[in-house]
Amino acid sequence: MPASGYVGRFAPSPTGPLHAGSLVAALASWLDARSQGGRWLVRIEDVDSPRCLPGADREILRQLAACGLVPDGEVMHQSTRGAAYQAALDALVTRGQAYPCACSRKDIEQALAAAGHERTRHGELVYPGTCRHGLHGKPARAWRFLTEPLRTEPHTGVSEGSDLPTARSTQQAAADGHRIHWTDRRLGPQDQDVARDVGDFILRRADGLWAYQLAVVVDDAAQGVTDIVRGEDLADNTARQILLQRALGLPLPRYLHTPLVLGANGEKLSKQNGAAPLDLADPMACLQSAACTLGLEAPAVTAGNSHGSRQGDWLAAAVRAWAVRWPATIAAQAR
Ligand SMILES: [Zn+2]
Repeated sequence: MPASGYVGRFAPSPTGPLHAGSLVAALASWLDARSQGGRWLVRIEDVDSPRCLPGADREILRQLAACGLVPDGEVMHQSTRGAAYQAALDALVTRGQAYPCACSRKDIEQALAAAGHERTRHGELVYPGTCRHGLHGKPARAWRFLTEPLRTEPHTGVSEGSDLPTARSTQQAAADGHRIHWTDRRLGPQDQDVARDVGDFILRRADGLWAYQLAVVVDDAAQGVTDIVRGEDLADNTARQILLQRALGLPLPRYLHTPLVLGANGEKLSKQNGAAPLDLADPMACLQSAACTLGLEAPAVTAGNSHGSRQGDWLAAAVRAWAVRWPATIAAQAR
């Protein structure tokens, strides 16, 4: 294995077999790792255990292998990582960056209604920060990340959506201090004000399950991941993950978010909108379709000898095409 410092990963949720959309992310992350002489790891994101399907992890690995994509190290399962997530949460609590929350969804709805503004994002309520100043005797249900420093002044009753200029300018100043900027290799400069747009997000859910954001950040650091190549639908999580990486003192990876395969309804292809599992009878056709979504000059399928060498030749050509489209990040890294 070449000694480049690059470590990439593919991190599927075992909620079912791979489909055409998930293969795009798998292939892109593999091509980027190979084109930079790096390692490529697979992590099974089974942290949301009720949604996972028994045996789906093995099926996914079998599908990847049929496509010639074999991880360069042991496969990590998030379901075994509870102690690491707890240690990260403890560290955040110690640093004053995490706090317990007693609110039910109904409590959050009522607090937002009382403040006179319904803040939602992607259908999710933006948490109004009710428990930042303590639980007031109520039992803790979940744990949240504190997206901005506690305000020491008492609440004035002026809501953040108020038209009062003073309230707005105060909020704006606080918000600007918490805008996260990063550069995506494909999408270009990105930024998000997590405190304003997302609010204090969940680290551990009321049902005891670990939140995706915390698990991903802890595991990427544990696996030494330098480059995250994943579907564009996950780009929106990046700012929250950067906040967590900073708060935990972890290295910041580079990001490349790939185009999505759309279903018949125009939304991201998923099991919910009828994505069929990859047809392993013809993995080459699956790979070519994924390369097409990635905008690669489709490498020709040589009329070669065995199936295995044809696939190997095709993958090698795809690595070269990827290297032209997405030049190496190693030399360009400047932090
Ligand atoms: Zn709360």
